[in-house]
Amino acid sequence: TDAVLEVRGLNVDYGLGDDAVRAVRDVDLTLYRGEVLGLAGESGSGKSTLAYGLTRLLPPPGVISGGEVLYHPDGGDPVDVLRMDHAALRRFRWAETAIVFQGAMNSLNPVHRISTQLTDVIKAHDPRSSSASRLARARELLHLVGISADRLESYPHQLSGGMRQRVMIGMALALEPKVVIMDEPTTALDVVVQRQILRQLVELRERLGFSVVFITHDLSLLVEFSDRIAIMYGGRIVEQANAADLYRDPLHPYSHGLLNSFPALRGPKRELTGIPGSPPDLRSMPSGCSFHPRCPHAMERCGVEVPVLGVPVARSDRADRTAACWLHPVHDDGL
Ligand code: ATP
Ligand code: MG
Repeated sequence: TDAVLEVRGLNVDYGLGDDAVRAVRDVDLTLYRGEVLGLAGESGSGKSTLAYGLTRLLPPPGVISGGEVLYHPDGGDPVDVLRMDHAALRRFRWAETAIVFQGAMNSLNPVHRISTQLTDVIKAHDPRSSSASRLARARELLHLVGISADRLESYPHQLSGGMRQRVMIGMALALEPKVVIMDEPTTALDVVVQRQILRQLVELRERLGFSVVFITHDLSLLVEFSDRIAIMYGGRIVEQANAADLYRDPLHPYSHGLLNSFPALRGPKRELTGIPGSPPDLRSMPSGCSFHPRCPHAMERCGVEVPVLGVPVARSDRADRTAACWLHPVHDDGL
């Protein structure tokens, strides 16, 4: 296997003891080298919590209450990110993974020029570099993300939202990370700009060879740009498939509903129906499958037993497809 990150049994809670709510539940997820993995789900499904959790950047009161996150360095032994000491974690965050957070484009410092902000990142990573080499590298990074060098001396407010987002991506790439996590970096931008940025990221991924976790609630973007897609609902992953399979043949009724909530960018038109009802309240999760109260196909069992995420018997030729739904019994069902 050529995994770069393996998440196993990850649980993340907000708060402690009786006040705790579980926002990520028993998540297993593998990121392969060089792939774009899309993570989709409605607001509150736990996408950001998962992303923060696997890099240990959870803001309080978030706590990881179980699981492991194995990082496979090039040619080295896997290490559990959740058990790294401070120094190793720092290195991992800086040099191995880069995260562009939700709303990141507003996190550029308004009082500093773009050049200063880029060179500061490079300097923090490599304090002995010369200022000339840092500036050259800053220019190169802007070029990578499609911004001309004459923007180096601009202040953030002089750039469009899309350009600020590109600058953030350039910063994230400054340290040549192996994994880039983008948390809905484009929601504040219009759809055309979103697609341009995502396309550029996919191209850079091919040239620079990093892996991408791209988080959004807009599944149509993911269908177009990711290799594989994982769908989250109520803190769990309910389906995983390669993007084309998921689009053609979604197994989980929630995935189906999500696909029909956004206009398709290409391929056959789907009728936009959306999903009736609203996401579950983490404080009082429905019994059984947490989607059952909204599910058009719910059966008696669905309100009683939590479905296992596994390869459905009917798709057993495809080990890369998993779903957690009683409509699609899996091999170890009932064990
Ligand atoms: P969005 O699409 O809106 O970004 P998301 O899928 O990223 O949503 P999260 O932000 O991970 O969802 O939130 C998952 C759940 O955890 C939500 O129910 C949210 O209310 C809860 N949550 C998030 N942050 C906190 C917090 N600081 N304290 C308590 N609960 C939180
Ligand atoms: Mg989020």
